[in-house]
Amino acid sequence: MSALLLYNQPSPQFDARQAQAIALLKRVAEAHGPLTQASSLGAEDMVVTHLVHLAGIESGVFVLDTGKLHTETLALIGKIEQRYSRSVEVYRPRNESVIKFVRQHGEEAMYQNVALRKQCCDIRKMEPLARALAGKGGWITGLRREQSSDRAAVPDVVQEAERIKVNPLADWTWGDVWHFIARHQLDHNALHDRFFPSIGCVPCTRAIAVGEDFRAGRWWWESSDLKECGLHVQPATTSLPPSETSPA
Ligand code: SF4
Repeated sequence: MSALLLYNQPSPQFDARQAQAIALLKRVAEAHGPLTQASSLGAEDMVVTHLVHLAGIESGVFVLDTGKLHTETLALIGKIEQRYSRSVEVYRPRNESVIKFVRQHGEEAMYQNVALRKQCCDIRKMEPLARALAGKGGWITGLRREQSSDRAAVPDVVQEAERIKVNPLADWTWGDVWHFIARHQLDHNALHDRFFPSIGCVPCTRAIAVGEDFRAGRWWWESSDLKECGLHVQPATTSLPPSETSPA
């Protein structure tokens, strides 16, 4: 089933949201650069990459290649590089950490308990993320409030300990995301056509059934309040009003 046919249903606010997202990116780039975009290569992040292009701002884009990504996901790296004539930075976990962890706990450690799953995420995602964000004034994500109850309060901009985090799609609907993909003829992850709305690592992502929550296919064996890998869980943060994203 084509995700484009299924989900392309813009909200009445679509045009305004697109304009606001571009304006936000411009303001933040001027006040908080250098910026970089964290891309999971899912639908939202393909939209964000194109919004950055439309905004005409300077921003890197990086992917955390955990060593467990789907081939459908990895295939999008070359497509981004071709379309925008730019390189995508790929950060991988440290070999020695992965080998040690797998030797101790096995390839399927994530299913054993939450602590081991989080340890796997720390090694394969969090440590590479720290390298990707080093020296950056801000990072851009595709987080949306609609994605889960944990994300219902996602702000447009948040001041983290060391940098700013920008969520230009915070108020977008899933239908807005797919309308943007259709309107701008963006590539999308083929897994979306197979009922994977939220895409992560192979062992930790499955398709969802009709009526299931958006993120039901992520770490589905855990209770729903634990379903974050750490990338978007920051203990000391302050939401910023729009005026404070402007240059001083
Ligand atoms: S999502 Fe799964 S495979 Fe990927 S890093 Fe986390 S626990 Fe490991």
